[in-house]
Amino acid sequence: MVAVAFFAAVSVGADRMGKRAMAWIGRLVIGFTLLGLVAWPGAMAAERAGERARMVETIRAIAKMTAVAGETGIDPTVLDAMRRVLRHELVPDEVRPMAYQDRPLPIGYGQTISQPYIVALMTDLLDVGPDAMVLEVGTGSGYQAAVLAELVQTVHSIEIVPGLAERATGDLARLGYANVRTRAGDGYFGWSQAAPFDGIVVTAAASHVPPPLVEQLRPGARMVIPVGAPFTVQYLVLVEKALDGSVGTQRLLPVRFVPLTGGR
Ligand code: SAH
Repeated sequence: MVAVAFFAAVSVGADRMGKRAMAWIGRLVIGFTLLGLVAWPGAMAAERAGERARMVETIRAIAKMTAVAGETGIDPTVLDAMRRVLRHELVPDEVRPMAYQDRPLPIGYGQTISQPYIVALMTDLLDVGPDAMVLEVGTGSGYQAAVLAELVQTVHSIEIVPGLAERATGDLARLGYANVRTRAGDGYFGWSQAAPFDGIVVTAAASHVPPPLVEQLRPGARMVIPVGAPFTVQYLVLVEKALDGSVGTQRLLPVRFVPLTGGR
């Protein structure tokens, strides 16, 4: 009888201790999870930050030598955005080690992500501010869209290859770019429901400047687009729509882009 009572007392004690231990373990698990949640974005941003800083220095040096971006070079806000965007998270695994080299990289489906200097230059030439709503034709990896998303209010981006559109949409959401709207379709015709845009960037070479895109440009806004037939020399062209609606174009520098495909 005494033995039973003793055993019962011990097991109650053990049970209580067990519960206490469990409660502590629970608290620790919750604590570490919360700590992880708080630290994770910081850790993500720090990932390969040194490589990004070196990439930005390279861009700055090229911009200085070529002077296409003007006397003052590429705007520091554009360079800051490029320092933040995790390019390695937007390219296929096989090319991740090369993500911060200043060179184009394959992204599958026969397409390429542009060289970072060209992304910086095109973004700089758009000359858009934090309230702007911009259109990108050729989402590809989503990298140019992410750089723009760091700088403007809303980015609309159209991609003609459904597989790329889907992948970029998922990647941009995963990286937290809630201000990018994506769509699979032919960007030659723009995105009329969202127009007019404060800037349009086309990241595939067209044989001519698509009239629907000129139409969807707000007076006072700019479009940056590579123009030239496939296998011939292409030029980066700056299209400016004046406040009176007149349109001026300026050839800036020879470039090489994948062709703008689609119905036109
Ligand atoms: N801006 C992209 C570059 C991708 S390369 C990036 O940062 O990764 C150009 C992209 O334009 C390709 O993905 C190609 O499929 C797409 N493209 C070609 N023609 C198009 C069209 N008519 N409409 C929309 N996208 C097009």
